Amino acid sequence: MHVYAIGLRTRFRRITVREGVLVEGPAGWGEFSPFWDYDAAESAAWWRATREATELGPPAPVRDRVPVNVTVPAVGPEAAARIVRESGGCRTAKVKVAEPGQSAAEEADRLAAVRDALGADGAIRVDANGGWDVDTAVGRLRLLDRAARGLEYAEQPVMSVPDLARVRRAVDVPIAADESIRRAQDPFAVVRAEAADIVVLKVQPIGGVRACLELAERIGLPVVVSSAIETSVGLAAGVALAAALPDLPYACGLATAQLLTDDVTPHPLLPVDGALDVAAARALRPDPARLAATAADPETAARWRSRVDEVLAVAG
Ligand SMILES: [Mg+2]
Repeated sequence: MHVYAIGLRTRFRRITVREGVLVEGPAGWGEFSPFWDYDAAESAAWWRATREATELGPPAPVRDRVPVNVTVPAVGPEAAARIVRESGGCRTAKVKVAEPGQSAAEEADRLAAVRDALGADGAIRVDANGGWDVDTAVGRLRLLDRAARGLEYAEQPVMSVPDLARVRRAVDVPIAADESIRRAQDPFAVVRAEAADIVVLKVQPIGGVRACLELAERIGLPVVVSSAIETSVGLAAGVALAAALPDLPYACGLATAQLLTDDVTPHPLLPVDGALDVAAARALRPDPARLAATAADPETAARWRSRVDEVLAVAG
């Protein structure tokens, strides 16, 4: 069991360092990296994903490349444009919005800069991480849809399922559910409330690739596979899901290796011509030198070991 600690290039979810555990098993490597605000019960799903990767490995793929989006954090317009230009050919950009303290004008400027950098034929989606109320979401999405010269969809503009349904009825921009699926007691509430056009699935919070495939089939909406900002080991499980889904109409949020300052392999899963290579993901193994270079300090490693013990006690 290797505990890693790797810096983030830009603050995300109020954190600047990503930490987690990598485990090797008979079928390969798995990652366990729930954020610290997930308790042992919620982290049990993340552990099931880790076990699946180490014991079963990935299911059979139906495609050999997975188109991915570049992620643009809540940065200024020049930085946003540079991130798009240096994205490895991504034709879709996901732009973070609803950042506390930022104005509508700052968000509009960021979206306009992303559109200019991406060109007219690129796709732009926004992610608010549930940060708006209904009225703000409706007003802001109309404004940002114009600034971006067309939004592909808006991810989790508001947090609750009823509010998501209200926003969806009020705007033309399609709505994607993320937090409403992965942190919900009942992921089907979104479907019953007709609150979303698209669902975002992440392998670790849902409990593995096969659990995601089953959920996708039952939900019956188009799926976007996203990462939880993992090392390339965790990303490989996301690629395995995206490669196995019967339909993949949207670019996936799996190009997040570029958000980390380092990785556990000298060949991180980065996009080429806007896509990740499925064979490369299936062959991915951590490199001993990179594992040593990214190892967490002893105190952090001890915290993670006791966290795994707690989760094992809950998961059985
Ligand atoms: Mg999201």
